Amino acid sequence: MGLDEDSLDYHEADPPGKLEISTTKPTNTQRDLSLAYSPGVAEPCRRIADDPDDAYRYTAKGNLVGVVSNGSAVLGLGDIGAQASKPVMEGKGVLFKRFADIDVFDVELDQDDPEKIIEAVSAMEPTFGGINLEDISAPECFTIEETLREEMDIPVFHDDQHGTAIISGAALLNAAEIAGKDLEDLEIVFSGAGASALATARFYVSLGAKRENITMCDSSGIITTARAESGDVNEYKQEFARDIDGGGLADAMADSDVFVGLSIGGLVDQEMVRSMADNPIVFAMANPDPEIGYEEAKAARDDTVIMATGRSDYPNQVNNVLGFPFIFRGALDVRATEINEEMKVAAASALAELSKQDVPDAVVKAYGDQPLQFGPDYIIPKPLDPRVLFEVAPAVAEAAMDSGCARQELDLEAYEERLEA
Ligand code: NAP
Ligand code: MG
Repeated sequence: MGLDEDSLDYHEADPPGKLEISTTKPTNTQRDLSLAYSPGVAEPCRRIADDPDDAYRYTAKGNLVGVVSNGSAVLGLGDIGAQASKPVMEGKGVLFKRFADIDVFDVELDQDDPEKIIEAVSAMEPTFGGINLEDISAPECFTIEETLREEMDIPVFHDDQHGTAIISGAALLNAAEIAGKDLEDLEIVFSGAGASALATARFYVSLGAKRENITMCDSSGIITTARAESGDVNEYKQEFARDIDGGGLADAMADSDVFVGLSIGGLVDQEMVRSMADNPIVFAMANPDPEIGYEEAKAARDDTVIMATGRSDYPNQVNNVLGFPFIFRGALDVRATEINEEMKVAAASALAELSKQDVPDAVVKAYGDQPLQFGPDYIIPKPLDPRVLFEVAPAVAEAAMDSGCARQELDLEAYEERLEA
């Protein structure tokens, strides 16, 4: 049977779907039940009414993330609506649980009006320790996230934007090191100016790239100041408008150090890779088909092309699962009020550093015994590497404490031991 049929069987097997609720306290006796519910439950309610932070002490809030979508930009499927997006959101819940033991309520909102989405999500703050916005289309996703981050006192994180930014940011740190180039000198070209590309470009600036060295192309070509002034691009793209001549992706890529593809498959050919500077970095991340294939890009030139894609069948897979479970783990464990730039940079740096350490045999085995050693074909850790949890979550927790958005201080050494236990 093919993947489609197998997947239908997987989802349909009794009970349908992929998640269920389970209880965490004894429920065997009448007394247990009167503690769990009325009348005993009144006392924790009173405590929380007196001090809302006690919700973290007496309820599941602190380990519960809301995965919220309106189904307007689902995977490669597009605007399939809220109901049809539910398998994806449940799947996100599976990954949160499997990789970081975080519980998820998936929340599918039948709503396209950003104002109403903002209203609905911000009213859910008492329920959750954090909100993962998922598969909401650009440019609405920018306003929705920005406003919710201001209004809410728990982390709000649109994974399609920041997940890609952080993982590929880790890859960029290492790729630049291997290519012997400084981030501040990199000429970076983006194909795509949507949710993931704009967030990734902003994040590369946080990591040390220069905004004025970034050229961004959308479906109409290079985003120039002339186009911005003529009102041809939205306010988010305008942020990266460059005062250069107009042109297409091929013009932009000539002599550049880095290509970042977050657009659609097949836009880049070998000639364009050949036109880049020495030892170019090519992150072709369109799914399921990259802007240029791994073999094709590698074969385009004699020097080293450092290549990453979104695919699991080639080296350097940029996969969001390397980020969100561990970033939320660290944020929840210090009861963070947000996931800020410092925390994101800490996550990317921790991933980059981890790639330089020896890989445990069990991880090498899980990936078909191919050698995994820091270098052009291993610039980010593998998703099934258990060390990612122990490295990224504490790094994020520490950055939250240092940047003043932790409600709770942790002893980091004890915390790392607890995670490894
Ligand atoms: P999005 O918000 O819809 O943005 C898509 C962008 O691609 C738009 O800016 C669009 O231009 C541009 N585009 C479309 N056709 C183009 C063309 N012929 N030439 C140049 N640009 C073109 O989508 P997204 O969520 O950012 O995702 C974009 C891609 O990245 C998807 O393939 C997605 O699967 C992939 N992605 C991969 C990962 C990963 O981890 N590997 C993570 C996130 C996203 P206009 O603005 O002019 O319409
Ligand atoms: Mg997504």
